[in-house]
Amino acid sequence: MKRPFVTLPQLQEIVKTYPTPFHLYDEKGIRENARAMKAAFAWNPGFKEYFAVKATPTPAILKLLREEGCGVDCSSLTELMLSDRCGFGGSEIMFSSNDTPAEEFVLADKLGATINLDDFTHIDFLQKTIGHIPETISCRYNPGGTFTLGESKEGFQVMDKPGDAKYGFTRPQLTEGFKKLKEMGAKHFGLHAFLASNTLSNDYYPALARILFQTAVELQKETGCHIAFINLSGGVGVPYRPDQTANDIAVIGEGVRKAYEEVLVSAGMGDVSIFTELGRFMLAPYGCLVTKATHFKHTYKEYVGVDACAANLMRPAMYGAYHHITVMGKEDAPCDHVYDVTGGLCENNDKFAIDRALPEIDLGDLLVIHDAGAHGHSMGYQYNGRLRSSELLLRPDGSVKLIRRAETPADYFATMVFD
Ligand SMILES: *Cc1c(COP(=O)(O)O)cnc(C)c1O
Repeated sequence: MKRPFVTLPQLQEIVKTYPTPFHLYDEKGIRENARAMKAAFAWNPGFKEYFAVKATPTPAILKLLREEGCGVDCSSLTELMLSDRCGFGGSEIMFSSNDTPAEEFVLADKLGATINLDDFTHIDFLQKTIGHIPETISCRYNPGGTFTLGESKEGFQVMDKPGDAKYGFTRPQLTEGFKKLKEMGAKHFGLHAFLASNTLSNDYYPALARILFQTAVELQKETGCHIAFINLSGGVGVPYRPDQTANDIAVIGEGVRKAYEEVLVSAGMGDVSIFTELGRFMLAPYGCLVTKATHFKHTYKEYVGVDACAANLMRPAMYGAYHHITVMGKEDAPCDHVYDVTGGLCENNDKFAIDRALPEIDLGDLLVIHDAGAHGHSMGYQYNGRLRSSELLLRPDGSVKLIRRAETPADYFATMVFD
């Protein structure tokens, strides 16, 4: 059973100051999880988590993660600018972009970020753009084909198709790329791969690590390059559904350690640092979208209209993603009503839930939409003239801080040209 990190009395207090809808983040949960992450990889002295900025690009959140020892993973000019303004610099920034505009490489280089190249042709492009090849450089690997991990009753535990993904170097391109980069002055190399998203398995990172570790050993033999770090990227998932089991980061860290010992240490490469770029795992469960029931509609189905819409949380509309909903104050009431929970966009996919069994909802009830802390507010948009909501931080002492104001019509009109 999923419980919100906030109580009804707390929310009733918050809505006196901040009208719904809003995103609410749990500082305590974020910090505890970041510490568990760090502890799970403490066996690796160079370990660093580079939080994927795109998941939650909010200064207060980024600063909080920085206090917990995290860096940032950026993939655009504005994410680099944001990270710079939040105090990140140098080796605290990983720049993993694709189809990269020249100005982004320029800024990444100026900030001293570690550049993770997405393609072989970007080697010459980078050299031409910034006039040199940095001493530390990373390449993204795409092994192609299909990535599968174990079989369960429902089929494969994890299955993704790297071969269909636009990212990364092929295996032969990696060898050629490392050789070329070395000739151009690179001294320390990183290897990166992202093979599957939102994996609910403690085996994903260890399996990916094994592939990257073996590849690193081969590359070191073939090219003589010094492999300084291996970046396991994102992809560790969270249980959006109440019947799913959460990943255990301690077990994951231990699985990676085992592969590290077996592959890297035995090859004399025990100095390699492990990096991660998790977004969802770091934030999703520690943020929720709070909204209010504003209308009921009884036609061919039973609808509850709420004051949030897909502009605030796009995942259900975009991917049909499940987000658990708690009707506040009715946590233990029987789920004996079936509703579609809808927002107000003129798009029939603007539904937070379809045919969801919930307790009977009354007008004005507060609904918590769970696991919206990553890829939630950040995917927001202004379609239909709906504006993005505010973001609030619930502090460990129970107080609440506004960390992003809601958009106003002035924001909507700001880019328009009327004459
Ligand atoms: C999106 C992304 C991540 C984070 O992915 P999660 O699924 O949120 O963990 C990490 N690295 C790169 C390069 C990404 O594009």
